[in-house]
Amino acid sequence: MKMDPRKIEELKKKLTSQQYNICFLAGTEPPFSGKYTHNKKKGIYHCVVCEEPLFSSNDKFDSKTGWPSFDKVVNSDKVELKDDTSLGMHRLEVLCKNCEAHLGHVFDDGPTETRKRFCINSLALNFKEAKS
Ligand SMILES: [Zn+2]
Repeated sequence: MKMDPRKIEELKKKLTSQQYNICFLAGTEPPFSGKYTHNKKKGIYHCVVCEEPLFSSNDKFDSKTGWPSFDKVVNSDKVELKDDTSLGMHRLEVLCKNCEAHLGHVFDDGPTETRKRFCINSLALNFKEAKS
């Protein structure tokens, strides 16, 4: 499911320049700069652009890389993976399927049974704490 491109254009206007740089110019925040890197609260991480729920605190782990890391997506239909050969490397880019925002990359060296490490920019996420 994709959003109406006009709606996406509207949402882009609400982003800060840093968020825009990550989400639509495929930028990367400096390691350890993101506000969610060490966030241990329970809740759901939403797409900062369109608010789709993408990652759960249950799947978050400390990868020591300086970016929030998850071993899976809340629902694999929520993201799109795309080959990225920039910087002379082959990586898999992770995009929000709904609004096509760049979120980060996924690697196959995760420490859990999924073997996945979704390395996601804090700036691409909006965390909503679970009500207990
Ligand atoms: Zn989105």
